[in-house]
Amino acid sequence: MRCGFPLGNAGLRTLNARMTLKVDFHVHSYFSMDGVSGPEELVAAARAAGLHALAVTDHNTCEAVDYMIERGLLREDGAPVDGFLVIPGVEVSTAEGHLLCLGRRLPASLKGLPAAEVCRVAHEAGGLCVAPHPYDLFRAGIRENVLDTLPLDGIEVFNAAITLKRHNHKALEYAQSRGLPMIAGSDAHHAESVGVAYTVLETDDFSADGVLAAMRRGGELQQRYLSARQTLRKTWNNWFRLRSRTRAARAAKKRR
Ligand SMILES: [Zn+2]
Ligand SMILES: [Zn+2]
Repeated sequence: MRCGFPLGNAGLRTLNARMTLKVDFHVHSYFSMDGVSGPEELVAAARAAGLHALAVTDHNTCEAVDYMIERGLLREDGAPVDGFLVIPGVEVSTAEGHLLCLGRRLPASLKGLPAAEVCRVAHEAGGLCVAPHPYDLFRAGIRENVLDTLPLDGIEVFNAAITLKRHNHKALEYAQSRGLPMIAGSDAHHAESVGVAYTVLETDDFSADGVLAAMRRGGELQQRYLSARQTLRKTWNNWFRLRSRTRAARAAKKRR
């Protein structure tokens, strides 16, 4: 089992001219149980939407990361594949709510641990921690009293699937009050929603390492909400988790 996951190999990494990259830092595959699209579909959809990178952030599992490494869609040295970059990640259900861990493959055993402990493990592994949808009262975001205590690397101030827009506004105010980097993410659970919201970054280092460093410097946010149809689809997915679970299990089996 892979535990560490190098963001990039400075010796191998090619430095490019300054470039503008569109990155969706919050995407679920069907390994997520409530997601319905396969990793290949997500990458194809992201490319079609004009993105340069996505972070695969399934709930409490890095199975999609392993799958994408095996299929050659994600490189362990953090470099892009055919001009597209997949950043390893996971959305951990901590004891106090959801936490996006980006840049490293982390073990599933983090589920249920205190957020502070998950931050410690992610940081020790070399990854970054971003709080998604912290004010969404209808989803398990980490609330302000706990956020205040966490060594966060960023806040998701725009979540395209947020229940109420004011929950995003509050996240923005919180990030501003702490001077934390901000991201926008689609929280896509279906390929159709990938890239609805994303973060625009400037960097001369097109690698997982470079993109995360650029995120910490700050970028611009592309803020669009899921359409009514996409929202319906997400809700529909939640109702039919069992079907997704079967597909995910089948996919996992197939790759062994
Ligand atoms: Zn979440
Ligand atoms: Zn999510």
